[in-house]
Amino acid sequence: MPVTVAIIGAGPSGFYTADVLLKSGLSYEIDIIDRIPAPYGLIRYGVAPDHQTTKNVSRAFEKTALREEVQYFGNVELGRDVTLDELKAAYDVVVLAVGARLDKKLGIPGEDFPGVYGSVEFVNWYNGHPDCWDLNPDLDIEAAVVVGNGNVAIDVARVLVKTREEMAHSDLPEYAVEAIEASPLMDVYMCGRRGPVEAKFTNVELREMGELEICAPIIDASLLPAEVTGDWSDRDRRLREKNLGTMRGFDSVDPTEKSKRVHFQFFSSPVEILGADRVEAVRFERTRLEDGRTVGTGEHFEIACGLVVAAIGSKSEAVDGVPFDDKQGIVVNQDGWVEDNVYAVGWVMRGSTGVISTNRNDAVMVSDQIAEKFQDGSKLGRQALESLLAERQIRRTDFGDWKSIEAIEIANAPEGAPRRKFVSIDEMLAALP
Ligand code: NAP
Repeated sequence: MPVTVAIIGAGPSGFYTADVLLKSGLSYEIDIIDRIPAPYGLIRYGVAPDHQTTKNVSRAFEKTALREEVQYFGNVELGRDVTLDELKAAYDVVVLAVGARLDKKLGIPGEDFPGVYGSVEFVNWYNGHPDCWDLNPDLDIEAAVVVGNGNVAIDVARVLVKTREEMAHSDLPEYAVEAIEASPLMDVYMCGRRGPVEAKFTNVELREMGELEICAPIIDASLLPAEVTGDWSDRDRRLREKNLGTMRGFDSVDPTEKSKRVHFQFFSSPVEILGADRVEAVRFERTRLEDGRTVGTGEHFEIACGLVVAAIGSKSEAVDGVPFDDKQGIVVNQDGWVEDNVYAVGWVMRGSTGVISTNRNDAVMVSDQIAEKFQDGSKLGRQALESLLAERQIRRTDFGDWKSIEAIEIANAPEGAPRRKFVSIDEMLAALP
């Protein structure tokens, strides 16, 4: 009898796990459960809409979904429709692959003002996620602050300053295209609490900032050191030198020829969001590095803005029934093993770091453990889940339903765009026969 596996979450970590298990040569029956009828999680809702080639990995995931051992259970939510205890009882193995859907907090006064968002909700807004498509951020602003010097910060800054034409081959929803096009936004301040060497941008993303149609990158050249010093591996040193070279090259873009600017604001740590009833400015403390640690200098300054996006990382939601590490925002685990027959992979296992393919390493690590512990299945798996859902009259969608939704999205695409997304679950369900 095959080992029955429930994978909760149809993002990259879930799909890589299914793929690695199926390639192991052992016999598995795998159900991938997701609360949204559309699969692919972070690929669909996290990867930037103008980075379509990164989204191509979903073609490999589709092949996995179409394997006869695999079934997709869309519109089924853990905790709402089925509990972890029920899944543990129904399946030989349960894998949590739920990602990190909550924003980390800055923990400074004023953070709850209207106009202040975490990058998860803001990125989900411009990616048409069912939770956030109606966020409706007020973009009738002239300046925005993006906190963070990682790839998400750069994604947010770039999407805010690109033109409709630059977005023509993306799947940015029309409401976001219109809001961004209508916005009088001129200045985006991307603020890092450390320096240009410590910034976590990858070079491809950084380079794009120098190639924008109507926006110039602005960097204080005096902050760019001649060389990378400090305790870096050879690889890290090379990557950082490359980034410095790219930043130096930004001086070839003439800001007077552009209508917008993204300011790379280093050594700036936010201490308070200021405003009367919504954000009007951010107060920063100037920082410096001491042995690689950020320390405040006591010097403060303010940047006036009508929007703040904190792109400082995300954390997972606690999963009922398993221990949770609140500080790290992950499920407590040992190399992916949580307890009993429960495992975790991806961001719920190790936090919100790494690129998409990093999830394959987790999948291999956890699949090896599963293969060692479970050679034969003894639980009903799919059959048990199906009866539970039928009893509760849950409208579960399958991969065929997703293909129908996808076909309509593709047919509805504006010229040059890959698709026009359905943005709410109700819309997706209503589109199904
Ligand atoms: P990240 O790379 O960890 O960057 C987080 C940034 O927030 C860092 O600059 C960090 O500064 C800063 N930060 C954290 N807490 C802060 C605080 N309290 N105040 C001020 N700044 C704070 O995270 P991310 O940008 O969310 O990305 C998550 C992962 O997805 C990363 O591995 C990223 O590379 C990946 N990703 C990749 C792509 C791509 O390949 N195109 C696109 C998007 C995301 P410190 O460095 O000082 O801690």
